[in-house]
Amino acid sequence: MRASSFLFSFAVSLLTFTTVSAEKPFDFASTPGKLPKNVVPEEYAIRITPDIAKRTFTGSETIKVNAREAVKQIVLNAADIKITKATMDGKAIPASAIKLDEKEETLTLASEVAGGNHELQLEFTGKINQRGIGLYYATYQEHGTGTKKTMLGTQFEATDARRMFPCWDEPSFRARFQLTVVIPENFVGVSNMPIEQEQKVTGGKEVRFGTTPSMASYLNVFCAGELDAIHNKNGDVTHGVIATKGKAEMGRYALESSQQILNYYNDYFGQPYPLPKLDHIAVPGGFGGAMENWGGITYFESGLLFDPERSSIQTRQGIYEVIAHETAHQWFGDLVTMAWWDNLWLNEGFASWMGTKVSAKFNPDWEVWLAKSVPRDPMRRPGIGKEAAMEGDARSTTHPIQQPIKTEAEANSAFDDITYRKGMSFLRMLESFLGEDVFRDGLRRYMAAHKFSNTTTTDLWNALGEASGKPVVEIAAAWTQQPGFPIVKVARDAAGKITLTQERFTIHFDNAPPLEWKIPLTYAVPGESPAPSVLMTSKSMELPDTYGNRALKLNVEGAGNYRVQYDEASWKLLIADLPKLSVPDRVNLMTDAWALVQANRAPLSLYLDLVEKLPTKTELAEREQIMHVFDFMNRLLANTPQREQFQKYARLILRPSFDEVGWDPKPGEPVKMAELRGSLIKALADLDDKEIIAGCRERFQKYLADPKSIPPDLRSRVLAVVGRYADEATWQKLHELGLKTTSIEEKTNYYNALASAIDPKLAARTLEISLGDELPTSRATYLVARVARESEHPEVAWTFAKAHMKQLLAKTDAIGANNYAAGLFTFFSDPARIAELEKFAKTDLPPTAAKDVAKAVDEVGFRADVKLRVTTQIATWLTYTPKAK
Ligand SMILES: [Zn+2]
Repeated sequence: MRASSFLFSFAVSLLTFTTVSAEKPFDFASTPGKLPKNVVPEEYAIRITPDIAKRTFTGSETIKVNAREAVKQIVLNAADIKITKATMDGKAIPASAIKLDEKEETLTLASEVAGGNHELQLEFTGKINQRGIGLYYATYQEHGTGTKKTMLGTQFEATDARRMFPCWDEPSFRARFQLTVVIPENFVGVSNMPIEQEQKVTGGKEVRFGTTPSMASYLNVFCAGELDAIHNKNGDVTHGVIATKGKAEMGRYALESSQQILNYYNDYFGQPYPLPKLDHIAVPGGFGGAMENWGGITYFESGLLFDPERSSIQTRQGIYEVIAHETAHQWFGDLVTMAWWDNLWLNEGFASWMGTKVSAKFNPDWEVWLAKSVPRDPMRRPGIGKEAAMEGDARSTTHPIQQPIKTEAEANSAFDDITYRKGMSFLRMLESFLGEDVFRDGLRRYMAAHKFSNTTTTDLWNALGEASGKPVVEIAAAWTQQPGFPIVKVARDAAGKITLTQERFTIHFDNAPPLEWKIPLTYAVPGESPAPSVLMTSKSMELPDTYGNRALKLNVEGAGNYRVQYDEASWKLLIADLPKLSVPDRVNLMTDAWALVQANRAPLSLYLDLVEKLPTKTELAEREQIMHVFDFMNRLLANTPQREQFQKYARLILRPSFDEVGWDPKPGEPVKMAELRGSLIKALADLDDKEIIAGCRERFQKYLADPKSIPPDLRSRVLAVVGRYADEATWQKLHELGLKTTSIEEKTNYYNALASAIDPKLAARTLEISLGDELPTSRATYLVARVARESEHPEVAWTFAKAHMKQLLAKTDAIGANNYAAGLFTFFSDPARIAELEKFAKTDLPPTAAKDVAKAVDEVGFRADVKLRVTTQIATWLTYTPKAK
């Protein structure tokens, strides 16, 4: 799954940090979970009849089960469902023997059953909701006509299949599923497998889909609506892109990408994709991310459809990356599934790594790995990566990649940056240590051994260990079972002999428990090839060679998940050699330097001095890194006397970059120039560059007459700037445009622009929109967070959210609900807000929000801390640095 909002949470670890020991390979009987393992489902035949007008459905199912012993009762999952009839082997189970437990989300049938095979039949009714949980509906404006329409979709991960049909809803209870639905005649139905039979029935048509292979319940999918599709058969697999009427042709790019990616994975994993079709389904609302349902992947519409006239290069990259991620799950997650949610990282860390690897391979000019090393504006899908995870992992609220998961709510809170991005980062480090071919061979072994079954992390390490002959289990344990990561300190003596020591790297986390790691280290003299990598297995070590007065760069290309701090002599040598270092190495120095400032291990001057000495002005990743830091400082300094002077300094650093790039695309320029141009426009306008702001306004006026006058790559940025400095008439105009368009991507651009307004009166008007139905639910609720971040008035957004919390949460999906309120506090830097959040949490939030509350409390404390330090240090820097005069 790919979550959409930037309100990703970091959960707090309640673990005590005991010694790390490896977990056991997969074993069904000892896998955690709530359901007894003495009765297992083998095959479901499910029939669902939705009543779209009433937002309800009726259903029935026949489940072939195997009792491994004689039992007195059968326990499975059900939530928000009413059972109208139950029979076991044709014999009715009386109503008094049917017990639904709402809190535990279980259905218990008191029925004595002998060991062996049986047939359970259930009839039931349930609800269709608009939160993107279970079976949901999304309303949208039809392309071309603007008519209001409704589409049905499902979202079952982590634990919501039980809302559409009672089932053994834990990932190790694999079974075959056969779905039949009754839908209106003008609807098209899609599920995991192709349609086997379609026939007219009263009230519509009955559509029967083929039976799936053995799989986990959360991978089922059902979508229906007035849909169009494009298809292409490649080898044995028919690829499809399905969208609401009139939009399927915008799936052309996705369809081509799907084939390229599937061919690559077929070879990489050594196991061919086992289903006859792979559909990518664009859903115009309901949920905001993407979900790897086997054979029928769902996406929020703008994550899948590319309109050459309207879509930007970021959209295109995002589409490729998300398809690569979800398609990797067709093996890693679907063919082989994690045993329990404590191993969610196996699915998500792996798909994030694999998706990035294949995106980088086929699109070298996108600098995919480098982009992951630079934190970016969180509204931009492809950017967020390793740095965001490392920042969270350094805090007191972090948790190990593998964490105990007891309840359904905890399973939903496991979808966070640590699970996805630290997992990705660790796998990248491990691959570069073991070697690309060895790593792939290990994965082929893993797939061959565990296909159509479940695994734990240990099964993966064992396969990689066998393929490499290296102690993978030992190396991995500290990285996946401990929180945090190390910093390696570099000290050199007069002869250039280098001594390394490691310690835990933390930010805003005093008295953190000390930890150690086995670190796969890489290093190189600038301009030379890297030395063979070494494994640091203790607190300190010496490098074998002596370097005299030559510089040495550790963590080559920033592929390792650790920080490096150089002593003064080593740092000076590196700074002198900057032009010889590759861009990824320079970006790695920048991100480490900024992290040292955040951790109070170095003054701000260390970072700013490095920025001023960079040998180029238009490297995308370097500029993005600077813009990220300047954006953070600019927001932190709001309403302080230092802000104006800081903005002036920041403009002096960034404006020459823009002057080189210019407003207009140059023929044949690399794609990254278009990205850089857009980012610089937004960054400089946020820093109050009057010329840039005027330039955006002028272009907006032309755009109103001729939308093609702004290239798609620049549109979201120019609109955001116009929105930020909007007066009432401009706000009104942007709103009209947003209401009118049927393109979700365009809509997002307009409403993001509205949410950027710094005039508090306009911010208040934008907030009201979140309660209405002019936006898909996931985008409507996101608007509040967007206002909190962009408007410079987080208090206006919070006051509004507090007053309307119930209505907002009614639109939020299961993953978003836990951190919705707490996430809005992360834009404050006033320590008084901590007590306010804690008080609100006590009275108004469920216990499941506790981890996110702790994270927000830490963030506010951190910001308050940095603000104190940075305001003093920036003043000193501006006094002494000649540039700022
Ligand atoms: Zn995923």
